[in-house]
Amino acid sequence: MAKPTYVANVTVFDGIKVRKRQGVLFGAEGIQWVGAHPRAPKDARDARVVDGDGKTLLPGLIDVHVHLQFDGEADFEKEARDLTTPGFAALKAMVNAKRNLDAGVTTVRDLGGMGGASIDVARAVAAGIVPGPRILAAGRALTVTGGHGHSIAFSREVDGPDAVRAAVREEIRAGATAIKLIATGGVLTPGIPATFSAFTAEELEAGVREAHERNLSVAAHAIGANGVRAAVLAGVDSIEHCNQLTASTAREMVARGTFRSPTICAVRGILDHADRVAAYAVEKARAIEDDSRKALRTAVRTGVRPVCGTDAGTPFNTHGSAPQEIVHMAEWGMPPLDALRAATANGAELLRLAHVGTVEPGKQADLVLVDGDPVEDPRSLLARKRVWRAGRPV
Ligand SMILES: [Zn+2]
Repeated sequence: MAKPTYVANVTVFDGIKVRKRQGVLFGAEGIQWVGAHPRAPKDARDARVVDGDGKTLLPGLIDVHVHLQFDGEADFEKEARDLTTPGFAALKAMVNAKRNLDAGVTTVRDLGGMGGASIDVARAVAAGIVPGPRILAAGRALTVTGGHGHSIAFSREVDGPDAVRAAVREEIRAGATAIKLIATGGVLTPGIPATFSAFTAEELEAGVREAHERNLSVAAHAIGANGVRAAVLAGVDSIEHCNQLTASTAREMVARGTFRSPTICAVRGILDHADRVAAYAVEKARAIEDDSRKALRTAVRTGVRPVCGTDAGTPFNTHGSAPQEIVHMAEWGMPPLDALRAATANGAELLRLAHVGTVEPGKQADLVLVDGDPVEDPRSLLARKRVWRAGRPV
């Protein structure tokens, strides 16, 4: 049996709060002990000791919105066209999964890709065949006929509650461990507006019911205010993007416990490289930028719980960008502590993963050690770090 690891005299962000001068003992079986460093148990003496002075230990990050089969090329449509076979898609997903892990992202939710390629990579990681973060994969996203993503392999077109229900069942049969509903238009699909409402209330409810019966989280891609509201009322678990948010819908999200995933990396990736991204996408991203900033402030003020979703794979938004998303959320006005909770405890709750997301005895030892204190300065997450996945160093 491998030696356990003891991180000594370290600041711990446990997923909820911060404590100084802590010690954390863990191994492949999980986290064994957390407490004040001077009171470390005897076992800690026999462990491999890591000096945590001046550093912060936190749970492995959780990115609830990635597209593992996409690398973040400037020309999103071309990258989508080039995804011609599931084998090629799986190879790309495998490499991008590892990029997430190296960046301290130990759990991801893949919200749309070709067929079952990401599902296969999730299985390969779980079986220990390839290294990677824990992957929950939605298989193909569900969209209305002619809706966002209809022209590329990452989604399937369905209309009517019965068809939505059947499609959710089929994705689950294919191995999906999350469900993605595209509730409005989108930025990266040419020829359609970003904000129109897509699925009807009945369609959304049919999809949500089916997924919840199987204890799977439901993510709704929703940009426009009406589509956001419809998805919230239908009972989805997270609103992805959520660029337009009224105060009344924000209150509804608080009451229902709906998480908000602001995906700022996606907007920034496009706007910060406007000269190299397709003009239609830049135009639509520009049109929602102000709304997005306002929506984040509304959410913070109202108490909507955030999760960290990067939409990695979209233009200039490469994998492993969860630390950057935390920095962006703080820059846009979220208290850093909340941005860190978003990427840890909240993400685990959304994804219904009881064994990760916090630093507590009994939890899996998915851990990240960074220099400095990310609560004081989230940019410390961007620098080099040590990562453990299930107690083993990455
Ligand atoms: Zn996405």
